[in-house]
Amino acid sequence: MMLEGIAGSKGIAIGKVFIYEKVTMTVSNNIIAEEQTSLELEKLKKAIAISKQQISSIKEKTLIEFGEDKAQIFEAHLMILEDPVVIKEIKGLIINSKINAAFAVNTVINNYYGQFAELDDDYLKERAADIKDVGSRLLRNITGCEYKTLADLKEEVIIVAHDLTPSDTAQLDKRYVLGFATEIGGKTSHTAILANTLEICAVLGLENITKKLKNGDYLILDGFEGKVIINPNDEQIKKYSQKKKEYEVLKKGLLKLVNLPAVTTDGKCIKIAGNIGNPNDIKAVIENGGEGVGLFRTEFLYINRDELPSEEEQLQAYKKVAEAAGGKPVIIRTLDIGGDKQVDCLIIQEEQNPFLGYRAIRLCLDQRDIFKAQLRAILRASIYGQILIMFPMIADIMEIRVAKDVLKEVKVELSQRGVKYDRNIKVGIMIEIPSAAITADIIAHEVDFFSIGTNDLCQYTLAVDRTNEKLSYLYQPFHPSMIRLIKHVIDSSHKEGKFTGMCGEMAGDPLAALLLVGMGIDELSMNSSSIPHVKNIVRSISYEQAVEIASKALKLSTSDEIINFLKESADKLNINNMF
Ligand code: PEP
Ligand code: MG
Repeated sequence: MMLEGIAGSKGIAIGKVFIYEKVTMTVSNNIIAEEQTSLELEKLKKAIAISKQQISSIKEKTLIEFGEDKAQIFEAHLMILEDPVVIKEIKGLIINSKINAAFAVNTVINNYYGQFAELDDDYLKERAADIKDVGSRLLRNITGCEYKTLADLKEEVIIVAHDLTPSDTAQLDKRYVLGFATEIGGKTSHTAILANTLEICAVLGLENITKKLKNGDYLILDGFEGKVIINPNDEQIKKYSQKKKEYEVLKKGLLKLVNLPAVTTDGKCIKIAGNIGNPNDIKAVIENGGEGVGLFRTEFLYINRDELPSEEEQLQAYKKVAEAAGGKPVIIRTLDIGGDKQVDCLIIQEEQNPFLGYRAIRLCLDQRDIFKAQLRAILRASIYGQILIMFPMIADIMEIRVAKDVLKEVKVELSQRGVKYDRNIKVGIMIEIPSAAITADIIAHEVDFFSIGTNDLCQYTLAVDRTNEKLSYLYQPFHPSMIRLIKHVIDSSHKEGKFTGMCGEMAGDPLAALLLVGMGIDELSMNSSSIPHVKNIVRSISYEQAVEIASKALKLSTSDEIINFLKESADKLNINNMF
């Protein structure tokens, strides 16, 4: 059986299905009879022993694979399980309050978790997460509730899920993940972005796929065409194994370009940078030949936690990236929460239209303390490398002016305290709302640079929710309206002597590179895995050819016409990129 979905991340995966369903454990307080006390104490004892065994084996594995540092985390987990005070409290509740073992564990753990989470010390705050983790393990072992997280995978599988949130994927072990197949999500969903970063093949928007499959089924995922074949025959396996091999050969060949610049055959340089979602991603950007970071999504600092990150914690993250970039530019985008990105540490009231709602710069300009803490951290980090600041979701010139005023205030405060920062730090904005794109000529003089966020620009220009797989046919980054807007933005910035980059997913599409180079784009920033593919395109064409291609494309009437024209042009130029 064949299913059609949305191609989220290139590649071919062939393997066994693992259905990932999130289970929420509810622990009820059953008052127990006197004679049941010993039974509950025994359950607790056994669960502690099993939990210790599990943690010890994870610890050993971690020590071998990731070293002493990471293994320490699990040593701390063992210490919690061996803490006489904690165990005494749990037992006390079972014996004296006649509470069942699961509820007793839940009560004590939640209590400690709350106390640690409220502390000001970052290190101790992190211990709160350890306490919760140990508590959940203990509960699972008491209740026998099989709760698999993506960190528990032990063999290579294709993960099939309704959706994958950043918190689900944060814990996955890439070695065991051949691909993702999800029911929701489009090309620019966060699952797609993550899959691209990790170079994991993904097909999204597959209606009801979790109901159509069972664990152990065999699948082929085609991340080029967005197809899924369930329990394929030998011939299909042979065909797709061949395609997989071809792609691997192509990727290997492209890696030779890592240390070469992205320059057209007639000498025009385009900067190729990487998008990162956390400080560790920079390694892959550099390894793939990125010349800096064109978009650092700082939301990672705010997810999976109940409290806001401190200024100090942010400083460390930004400093790490600035240093790892070794003097190459790093564009740090200020907080872009809201829309489809919700976090626990910031309560945002439910809205009818979150994508048109209280998010990103709107939230930051309203909650100045949060915004200022982030700006302080960015400025303080700016002495460790070349950092640029970027404001997201700008709709109106006033937002830029106010955001710049807040930045100025923060700079003055830091100067008064004698804190060092880059006084000439460059400030740019994302162009991802049509009003900003259309008025690019008016706002260009307010900023040092633009970066076009095509993921949002496309959803707002065509009025199509970027996460709605039913409307994916309308989500067209190559739509004539889009490419005309893009051209206007680039031209407007150049007239003011400013530069324009692009950091939406379109920037990592090799086919788009053919067009964007000819439209005069200065920088393309993308998932690290796309860098060699796009570099290959830039190095295969002359600027003159690209300009001609762009001017013809700008006259076409539909997205399909534009895409087909670009594919034909690539063919004529003999560019092989497995588009
Ligand atoms: C964009 O909208 O194109 C973008 C890069 O931002 P995000 O995907 O994080 O919304
Ligand atoms: Mg955006």
